[in-house]
Amino acid sequence: MIAIGIDIGGTFVKFFAVNDKKRVLKEDKIPTYTTLSGKAFLGQLSRIVNEWREGFKDKNVVIGVGVAGDTDHRKGVLRWAPNIPWHNLKVAEMMKANTGCKCYVSNDANMAAWGVFDKEFKGKHKNMIVITLGTGIGGGIIIDGKLYQGADGSSGEVGHMKIDCSPEAPLCGCGQKGCLEAYAGTKGILRMAQAASVKYPKSVLANLLNKEDFSVKLLSDAAAQDDDVAINLWKEIGTYLGRGLANMILLLNPDAIVLAGGVSRGAKYFLPSVKEVFAQQSVKTPFKNVKVLLSKEGNIGGVGAALYALYKSNEK
Ligand SMILES: [Zn+2]
Repeated sequence: MIAIGIDIGGTFVKFFAVNDKKRVLKEDKIPTYTTLSGKAFLGQLSRIVNEWREGFKDKNVVIGVGVAGDTDHRKGVLRWAPNIPWHNLKVAEMMKANTGCKCYVSNDANMAAWGVFDKEFKGKHKNMIVITLGTGIGGGIIIDGKLYQGADGSSGEVGHMKIDCSPEAPLCGCGQKGCLEAYAGTKGILRMAQAASVKYPKSVLANLLNKEDFSVKLLSDAAAQDDDVAINLWKEIGTYLGRGLANMILLLNPDAIVLAGGVSRGAKYFLPSVKEVFAQQSVKTPFKNVKVLLSKEGNIGGVGAALYALYKSNEK
């Protein structure tokens, strides 16, 4: 059997073909044609699936689709997405009609979590939370070696956990105040970096911010130059992230928390503060053995979608 994983983001759609041995056979990338109707867009995806299938010796093909949005994993429907225009799009049904292949659909963070669990850590940590730290913050939950998707497929929306309830708490992209994403997502980090560079105009951080566009790497570069402003900012991010992660650990008692996405590359600077928050907790047991790990795989969302389709089609 061959699985084709399709990762639909706001800008690009990535394709990966994976065989039973979890080896990536083929990959491709196209723009997310948001001006098309949902039906026409799925037609484009189906064309690639059909082309690839022609070329495979093994014609037993399944499809896994991860979408950056709110999905109904049981019906295979994309309900809604912030950066993708189609609502209530029957992805699984239409892909099946176009290609004849069974199609599984889930949120992209869930697919990435499955990829991290199944491929990157080879199923070792049966209770695992995978947090994707990028512009947004997404979460995927593995419980007893299975992907937990909740009652409606909306589990793991950890970016919108409230970690600051004060009236001054910053606004999140979702319109609410004090969400984890407003502190540890790239937009939140940019806001804090700008505020810090106004306060400390002579800092390395302020200097770099005047010269180049903001990126998480810029903040790491400033910290690498021993800039106290950048180092303290990373500590602050770590404290907020630590609070969010501590809440998740208290709820689920995972074996491991895996951090993925661009912001996780600053782990060297923020992890000590995360660990400090863990050390302050009164309920000690769930914090004693939990491992905080980093994901190093680049395309784990798309590969994870393929692996999830393989797993689901072999499920008894
Ligand atoms: Zn929010």
